[in-house]
Amino acid sequence: MEKKVRVRFAPSPTGGLHLGGVRTVLFNYLFAKKHNGSFIVRIEDTDQRRYVPGAEEYLFDCLRWCGLEPNESVQHGGSFGPYRQSERKSLYKKYADQLIEQELAYYAFDTPEELEKMRAQLATPSNPSPQYDRQVRLQLRNSLALGEAKTKELLDAGTPYVVRIKMPEQETLRFTDLIRGEVSFDTATLDDKVLLKADGMPTYHLAVVVDDHHMQITHAFRGEEWLPSAPVHILLWKHLFGLEQMPQWAHLPLILGPNGKLSKRDGAKYGFPVFAMNWTDPSTGEVTEGFKEKGFLPEAFLNLLALLGWNDGSEKEIFTLQELIDSFSIERIHSAGARFDYEKAKWFNHEWIKKSSTDRLLPEFEQRLFTNAISGAEREKLKQVVALVKDRCTLLTDCNEQAGFFFTEPAQLDTTAITGKWSAEKRAFFEWLANQYQTSSLGDAAAQELLFKEKAASLQLKAGELLLPLRIMLVGGKFGPGVFDIATVLGPTVTAQRIARALTLLP
Ligand code: GLU
Repeated sequence: MEKKVRVRFAPSPTGGLHLGGVRTVLFNYLFAKKHNGSFIVRIEDTDQRRYVPGAEEYLFDCLRWCGLEPNESVQHGGSFGPYRQSERKSLYKKYADQLIEQELAYYAFDTPEELEKMRAQLATPSNPSPQYDRQVRLQLRNSLALGEAKTKELLDAGTPYVVRIKMPEQETLRFTDLIRGEVSFDTATLDDKVLLKADGMPTYHLAVVVDDHHMQITHAFRGEEWLPSAPVHILLWKHLFGLEQMPQWAHLPLILGPNGKLSKRDGAKYGFPVFAMNWTDPSTGEVTEGFKEKGFLPEAFLNLLALLGWNDGSEKEIFTLQELIDSFSIERIHSAGARFDYEKAKWFNHEWIKKSSTDRLLPEFEQRLFTNAISGAEREKLKQVVALVKDRCTLLTDCNEQAGFFFTEPAQLDTTAITGKWSAEKRAFFEWLANQYQTSSLGDAAAQELLFKEKAASLQLKAGELLLPLRIMLVGGKFGPGVFDIATVLGPTVTAQRIARALTLLP
């Protein structure tokens, strides 16, 4: 029987969730959904020094905003828990002990100062920072060099130690990556990685293998930056559980910025975290603005992330989450780096805003335009406004400019755009127009336009020269949808008031 597909996202709660992280989540998620599998989130919090309070809740909030709900996690429960590595500490110790027992790992008592000294003493121009490996291990303070009796003595005395893996002298470790194909590593170049730290916590290497085994993970999608760790994991799988049990790995291509590797500065510029919430990034001390605050729809965000390294083989670019699930395949993930382009990201968002229903966008607009709850009547008006202006919004934040004037009188009118060609005749025309709105029922936008043009013609004024002033009177500047559509939504009283107010500001 085929094993049930189980994938995991294994973040360390050390900071914001950035677009590369969400793409990893997304590919795990798509694969799981496509194969009726389970998507697990495991919190890898074994590095206590890097732990950031609040980062875990933030992470789940981000996933919720994206609509990528895990099947099992700290928050969702499940029968493979605990889902936080710090709560699984005793499990890892057991495997570390087993490896020592089998002479596949050893105790190392070296202090940081001793390691420092070793690096300085053994450094050569061709090997400027020697690593803890087969070449030097017998010159250092570990159970291999010291022998059984001395080791026991140190352990009995409570000497702090770490457990290191004993890398084989010369062995080729291979695996087949689902994206990259055959990958191999020569152990002669690898160091004896720490498996268990002095505080009794496992390192990532030991924990990831033990947990992937215990949580019955079948496939692991992770960023390409983890590829160099793969040999340690392969070796641990071989030693502890058997290579045939190992999940199938897929190392996802790097995400590149406009000028090569995505830099910290690109991150700050483009707001790479998913969103900020009330969470302060410890590396900058700032509440960073993320994709949510910048005005991205989660649908668009997922869509653009999916295409960073994957396509369905056609020119198609706009995908719903369900369409992504249906068409996702590992064969179509490329191994070359994927370039992130903020302008293209905005294009995706614009397409998504245009394609979204008024009902979908209504709460997004409401939350950005109003600080307090609004009445039913106001919400009806907002619905009309959303339908009228959504195509003009690339980011949701554009709704402030594109829709704000429907609800609050523009603070400033760009009167300089009017005064150049202003005249007494034009003033008279607008006085008449304000009066018309005030006193008669003018009908729909088309009827208003007809009346407007007929009156202009009768006064030998060019309608074209009157439309811009009307727009500025109602909107404040040279933007917005059809001016009579605007007047219709504003209603005759407000339209008349805005024309009258503008006339007080004009000569
Ligand atoms: N804890 C690792 C991270 O922070 C997980 C890497 C993996 O998926 O194996 O990304």
